[in-house]
Amino acid sequence: MLTDKIAVVTGGSRGIGREIALTLAAKGATVIVNYNGSAAKAEEVVGEIQAAGGKGEAVQCNVSDYEKAAGLMEYVVEKYGRVDILVNNAGITRDSLLMKMSEEDFDAVIATNLKGAFNCTRHVARQMIKQRAGRIISISSVSGVLGNAGQANYSASKAGLIGLTKSVAREMASRGITVNAVAPGFIDTEMTQVLSDKVKEAAKEQIPMKRFGATKDIANTVAFLASDEAGYITGQVISVDGGMAM
Ligand code: NAP
Repeated sequence: MLTDKIAVVTGGSRGIGREIALTLAAKGATVIVNYNGSAAKAEEVVGEIQAAGGKGEAVQCNVSDYEKAAGLMEYVVEKYGRVDILVNNAGITRDSLLMKMSEEDFDAVIATNLKGAFNCTRHVARQMIKQRAGRIISISSVSGVLGNAGQANYSASKAGLIGLTKSVAREMASRGITVNAVAPGFIDTEMTQVLSDKVKEAAKEQIPMKRFGATKDIANTVAFLASDEAGYITGQVISVDGGMAM
């Protein structure tokens, strides 16, 4: 259980982040559901949490902005007095082959997926060090582990998250803070619903389990890493991908 824990889930308005927010709240955490543009969807998630007897609130913040990410963490610490769990989930794709990839598409993906996680981690670290406790979990990807044609920007951001995770895990281990990454394979969300049927079928062929995963598969793993039971696990990348990376 995560009773009385304070959790921040970036990109909690939709997809995997939404499921993580609902799952942590169901286990007793108060969840700050961060979003960038989808205010109504974030409020819906909070409504669902509250209808189930849980606690949470929606907070807008573009995590790729260093100062705004600082503001998000300051707001949470001021209001709730602590941050026990940070889930760096916010992410975007701007897929194309390298020879067609614009500088803007490269920068945008790195700014949200990698710098956004750095920003939130950087700004939550002081509070977690003060608490001598904390859990930081970043959502990487199988693309960051194996690479993926058409995703040079995205794979670089997700591999970068793994380096960030391992380095911060080493720095924070003696402070009672664990830092881990989850690397999902293909999960059924809006991010993958935009893929053509041809691409989806080709993807399934690469998955030993021959099917996409569900958001719950990722949320359950995050909830475990956030729990007391996972207290001796740090610096790890947990693949939840139907066997793609093994
Ligand atoms: P999604 O359905 O497209 O949702 C993305 C979420 O990120 C939304 O809540 C969005 O909020 C938020 N977001 C985007 N930019 C943001 C920013 N600058 N600041 C704050 N929030 C921002 O994506 P998903 O499939 O759930 O993916 C979630 C995470 O899992 C991502 O990091 C993704 O790379 C990773 N992942 C997904 C898959 C997959 O197959 N789906 C596989 C591997 C890894 P707004 O709508 O409010 O902008």
